[in-house]
Amino acid sequence: MNVIFHIATGVTIFSVVSKRETKENQISLPVYFFSFVLGVISHGTLDYIPHCYPLNSKVDVILGLFMMLFLIYAVKMHSKLLIFVVLLGCIFPDIIDLSPGILNSIFNINLPVFDNIFPWHFHEYSGSIYIDECSVSNINHLLTLIFCTIIIYLNRMNILKNFKTK
Ligand SMILES: [Zn+2]
Repeated sequence: MNVIFHIATGVTIFSVVSKRETKENQISLPVYFFSFVLGVISHGTLDYIPHCYPLNSKVDVILGLFMMLFLIYAVKMHSKLLIFVVLLGCIFPDIIDLSPGILNSIFNINLPVFDNIFPWHFHEYSGSIYIDECSVSNINHLLTLIFCTIIIYLNRMNILKNFKTK
């Protein structure tokens, strides 16, 4: 699925996991670990469901990168590492399996491309649709965004607490 949807789920996961902080704003190692794992699992779930690619891969990667940098910038200091870890988990499978191919196409270079490791990137399991019939995909993208919006809405106080206000 396009990177921007993985980032949307990353913000959603962050809105939940960033709640688990102590009074001193210390986030424990298991929270970082499980936040990363949740990011990877959410990536797999999104890649398994049928999806087209509404955004061209170059635009998607560049926009996704800007969104990640903005989010890391926009959260308060004590949450920067946590949001970085969540977002890294959310795009980690693509970094491992797809980044050489994407970098080759963006920069016209020749990095070696290996077989995919994550099963949702295997041709037989991936939900990628390469025909022009994208109505199921549009519904799935919409459901993904509604799902994320509802969870973020329910955790809005937590989001507000973790983002810089000025
Ligand atoms: Zn993927």
